[in-house]
Amino acid sequence: MTPSHAELRQFPVLDDCLQLGGITLTRLAERVGRTPFYAYERQHIQSRIALLRELLPPGLHLHYAIKANPMPALVQMMAPMVDGFDVASGGELKTALDTGMPPARISFAGPGKSNAELRSAVAAGVVLHLESEDEMERAARVGELLGIAPRVAVRVNPEFELKYAGMKMAGGARQFGVDAERVPAMLRKLGRLELDFFGFHLFCGAQNLSAKAIGEAQRLCVELGLRLAHHAPAPLRLLNIGGGFGVPYFPGERALDLRAVADGLRATMQTLCAAAPETQLVLELGRYLVAEGGIYVCRVLERKLSHGQVFVITDGGLHHHLAASGNFGQVIRKNYPVAIGNRMQAGPREVATVVGPLCTPLDLLADSMELARAEPGDYVVVFQSGAYGLTASPTAFLGHPPPLEVLV
Ligand SMILES: *Cc1c(COP(=O)(O)O)cnc(C)c1O
Repeated sequence: MTPSHAELRQFPVLDDCLQLGGITLTRLAERVGRTPFYAYERQHIQSRIALLRELLPPGLHLHYAIKANPMPALVQMMAPMVDGFDVASGGELKTALDTGMPPARISFAGPGKSNAELRSAVAAGVVLHLESEDEMERAARVGELLGIAPRVAVRVNPEFELKYAGMKMAGGARQFGVDAERVPAMLRKLGRLELDFFGFHLFCGAQNLSAKAIGEAQRLCVELGLRLAHHAPAPLRLLNIGGGFGVPYFPGERALDLRAVADGLRATMQTLCAAAPETQLVLELGRYLVAEGGIYVCRVLERKLSHGQVFVITDGGLHHHLAASGNFGQVIRKNYPVAIGNRMQAGPREVATVVGPLCTPLDLLADSMELARAEPGDYVVVFQSGAYGLTASPTAFLGHPPPLEVLV
């Protein structure tokens, strides 16, 4: 049996049933009409953003990185609450623009932007985060063609990497950004092209639970940005220092100390303000805004006993929630927090393994976990599922219908 997760308190329980957005899970399932589904709670996301606003230094811009959860209704809800959106594809660009977010507050990062994506981004007037010199030249050609000076920032691959990040995205050889040492030469070329230079973007890594490591990386990012600004063809208007704030998924993980992060950011912002008072500091967060406000819900189809082990077989699984199955970049599989959503407190408990309907042993939602004893018809809930859920899963695998999504 694996150790248990820290008590999950983000949603209340009424009559032994989990409640989201003031609706009990059983009633919500009726409203949705079928399982499996993802449910995201407005209140939780709003509170998370309000907490960030309260603690982070005033004047800091908070962006939402759409790839964490691109559900259009959710992104629309976010539009008035954040200062901008970060997108990483033409599809996300459309979702962002549809909300009415001003284009200058939308940034488009990601390697391998197609010419069609560049064209549509330049026509829209969003800020392109250039990932290579080649992309810079292609953007300039698109601008010439359309008679528009593209808004650009240079994504820099710094020498340092983010310690303790679940997913490192900078330092050493990377497909992201331009190596810091090559940036001065690129900026000289940029100055000769019809490009509207905004600033720099640095994104060191994701899923970090260490305030100290995040603070250190942010300080280094600002120092590097200021050094590189000496080579820029125009004053630095924008410095996007990434985010990477993590959320606890597994037993033993502790929530990020947001107060400590905020203290570090205040000092870093002072450094920036002293050297470049006109520069807008941007923080881009994905999962930290949405992961904990979402759950994945599937239904128990059968109980099965094999060699003394209880298997709870559900209608959901890996094809809908790759991360919870342990196959989205994890080295060692660990259980996400899981509960039987209509048996939250009362009733007998047992150690069970929750699986989906796919013909592969990888289709695991919980491995030998202590849970309420579940019967067919009960609801299995996977917590911490508001980010990198549906759109990060191979929904076509084995040909089952995709899950639904609701925002409550
Ligand atoms: C994925 C990504 C993010 C969001 O990361 P989270 O871990 O969800 O906060 C932010 N910026 C860039 C450039 C990304 O690629």
